[in-house]
Amino acid sequence: MAGSSLWSATCREEAGAIALDRDLDVDLAIVGGGFTGCSAALEAARLGASVALLEAHDIGHGGSGRNVGLVNAGLWLPPDDIAAALGQEAGERLVATLSEAPSRVFDLIERHAIDCEPRRAGTLHCAHAPSGARDLENRFRQGNRSGAPLTRLNADETRARTGAKGLHGALFDPRAGTINPLAYCRGLARAACEAGARLFAPAPVTRLERQSDCWVLSANGQTVRTNALLIATNAYHEGLEGPHAPRFVPFSFSQYATGPLPDAVRSDILPGGEGCWDTATAMTSFRLDAEGRLIVGSVGNREGVSGRIHTSHARRMVRSLFPAAGEEPFRHAWHGTIAMTGDHLPKLLAFGPNALTSFGYSGRGIAPGTVFGAAAARALVTGDVDSLPMRPVTAHAERFARTRAFTCEFGAALIHACGPGSR
Ligand SMILES: Cc1cc2nc3c(=O)[nH]c(=O)nc-3n(C[C@H](O)[C@H](O)[C@H](O)COP(=O)(O)OP(=O)(O)OC[C@H]3O[C@@H](n4cnc5c(N)ncnc54)[C@H](O)[C@@H]3O)c2cc1C
Repeated sequence: MAGSSLWSATCREEAGAIALDRDLDVDLAIVGGGFTGCSAALEAARLGASVALLEAHDIGHGGSGRNVGLVNAGLWLPPDDIAAALGQEAGERLVATLSEAPSRVFDLIERHAIDCEPRRAGTLHCAHAPSGARDLENRFRQGNRSGAPLTRLNADETRARTGAKGLHGALFDPRAGTINPLAYCRGLARAACEAGARLFAPAPVTRLERQSDCWVLSANGQTVRTNALLIATNAYHEGLEGPHAPRFVPFSFSQYATGPLPDAVRSDILPGGEGCWDTATAMTSFRLDAEGRLIVGSVGNREGVSGRIHTSHARRMVRSLFPAAGEEPFRHAWHGTIAMTGDHLPKLLAFGPNALTSFGYSGRGIAPGTVFGAAAARALVTGDVDSLPMRPVTAHAERFARTRAFTCEFGAALIHACGPGSR
């Protein structure tokens, strides 16, 4: 994994993937070993299907191993916007499914004893400015109407809960929590192996075709024949062009972690253990890990041409939010790519007989990826399409994806270059 990720440095889970050294014939083949693919492998194996998961690099190589670790209950969009985009009934169904999704994640962690620092202390969506407080008020009203147990915090309460300076309020969601995402992903993979799935890595799928009554995949010179196929490659899709490929706007996000903070500094920062992000256009995230390391993140690619701007901004952000931790050196820094869709909604793409691609969680993939992966596996193995969280589409396009990605990266660099505390 590029950069020096805190999650890989502290992950104790082993995924159990092996080398692909023979041809296979299976009920379900899965391409991609992130949350979606591993959750699908676990569910299909649990249902008694023979499963092969093929991962190009190592399990958790993509967004699943690089993210902030906020197990959110819902999508980027508030519930009314989801209903407006999907229709009332389909929107309400998706909102209800994702409201329960963190419980599904934390239940899996408990059931399979996944060693991933689970902490269900909720999340705080923080207002970076008065305009952000108005946005949160709107999210609070919509969330309440859809039954979400949200609580509003004023600026003083937010200061006491986070220890951060300069925030204008927050929305607390007790359904959510935090994990080490790479360890969760590898733990899901281990659980899938224990249930009988076979996971292969490194096994980049370089060819995919439909032959008479089955799908045929090629990887490492071997052939995998399968009745059903799930493409779970999301933002890290490699090589396989065609109607099955996910279409999205790639959106960079970088993170930085200190070493364990001294007790005197740590005790004032997030004493309740919530995970946080804010309302700014170039969004900022912050949280602690189990050892008390402060992890901050923001939009932009620290490995790209504006990398130094993003890294200087991360330092200024720590100084401005948590002055007592302001000079703590960063010990880890890494970056990842998020698959954003134009409407910020995930997509299930039905591209052929018994074949789905699941992608576009738009920065909310831990709980949704877990749920979509399992539901896709159920649908492909048993034919139960009614329990899919969304109706599959047969095509999805993203217009001007490269231009929009460039605008986002350039805009974040401009905002981050604009001086101390700029968000
Ligand atoms: C920096 C960052 C922060 C984020 N923060 C959060 C957060 O706090 N909370 C949250 O819920 N979500 C967050 N997300 C989103 C979340 O991480 C993703 O939505 C999620 O990881 C998607 O999981 P996935 O399994 O669908 O895809 P991925 O985890 O990206 O896995 C896809 C896998 O497919 C493999 N692959 C690609 N092509 C091939 C091929 N040809 N053959 C075989 N294998 C292949 C890749 O190597 C990769 O391992 C964040 C994402 C990023 C990048």
